[in-house]
Amino acid sequence: MEMKEKIQEKFRTLFGQDGAIFASAGRVNLIGEHTDYNGGYVFPGAIDKGIMAEVMVNGTEKVQAYSMHHDEYCEFGLNEEDKPSQNWARYLFGVCREMIKRGGKVHGFSTVFAGDVPLGAGLSSSAALESTFAFALNNLFNNGIDKFELAKIGQATEHNYCGVKCGIMDQFASLFGKAGSLIRLNCKTLEYKYFPFNPQGYKLVLIDSCVKHELASSAYNKRRASCENAAAAIRKYHPDVEFLSDAKRQWLDEVRDEIPEEDFLRAEYVIGEVQRVLDVCDALERGDYETVGEMMYQTHFGMSKLYEVSCEELDFLNKLARKMDVTGSRVMGGGFGGCTINLVKDELYEPFIAAAKEQFAARFGHEPKVYDVVISDGARKIQ
Ligand code: ADP
Ligand code: MG
Repeated sequence: MEMKEKIQEKFRTLFGQDGAIFASAGRVNLIGEHTDYNGGYVFPGAIDKGIMAEVMVNGTEKVQAYSMHHDEYCEFGLNEEDKPSQNWARYLFGVCREMIKRGGKVHGFSTVFAGDVPLGAGLSSSAALESTFAFALNNLFNNGIDKFELAKIGQATEHNYCGVKCGIMDQFASLFGKAGSLIRLNCKTLEYKYFPFNPQGYKLVLIDSCVKHELASSAYNKRRASCENAAAAIRKYHPDVEFLSDAKRQWLDEVRDEIPEEDFLRAEYVIGEVQRVLDVCDALERGDYETVGEMMYQTHFGMSKLYEVSCEELDFLNKLARKMDVTGSRVMGGGFGGCTINLVKDELYEPFIAAAKEQFAARFGHEPKVYDVVISDGARKIQ
């Protein structure tokens, strides 16, 4: 049975009626990593894996929610003190609360939901969940909130109800995603632009190392400090440089002797990465996927050798991709674990996946997971 039919069956069993069906998506980021807090570009798209929810206004002030993934039912009110204890329900509660805080109407509703974004794998199942409900409640209660504000509702949910201080990219991609398009988002101005992504003859595939190294948060803070330090040094000569992404490469060279070598290398990566996003956008407008792939390798190199946020497992997968002539491959997300994102010619797909599974398992003792993704529509009403 399809996910939709399973949801509908459960919904009828629990609530005896039919509701409306909404969905939103997980996301990938093709290129543009560690650029967000430097005021640079990210380049995400929604994927063909997401969350689907049947939702019906129930005429009370209570939310009745059932998560198919957890096989768990939860009921909660809409006031701040009604915060549910289940983690999954906090995402729904947070979306309700943040919508109410922004002047939106939210009353009781009943819902059954399910998803096929792997949880915690770096594809942002949480943003898919928030965006589905932000979109659904906005629609059902006729709030007329624009999509950018809905993304902020999802982001604020993470901050205030789930303890995750994330940026806006994931919710933005989930809500604004379109089939066949990636979206370049300027993290400083929040301007965005769609670019065509129709890699005919290629597949986009994630290989999940299934490792998470614990350095991530302290290393992250150190990287941020390095970037700020480099930006401050450049700003002395170029006062308009607000964020590191505003700096030209030669401006960084001018201050090379004034900052620690480590900060220089971090900044070199970031400034290069901002330019690579622009280069990838140009390449996509020409349909030049070989250049896109080359840029992905350059990003991986930068993340591994300059920014130093890769790890043995991810470098191993990247190196294997290069050896097998895969078009593009790089670590996706903050680093220290998670997935590589790979652009693979159709005919290379099977041998590459087989080799990755076998060789990774031989080296690290467990098989990586593999997720095929297609760039697809984001938040929408299905029925
Ligand atoms: P991710 O990188 O996938 O966003 P997070 O840890 O941020 O990982 O979010 C995962 C959490 O989101 C889960 O622990 C769960 O609470 C919620 N979630 C995601 N997908 C689902 C789902 N299909 N059903 C119920 N809850 C989900
Ligand atoms: Mg998340």
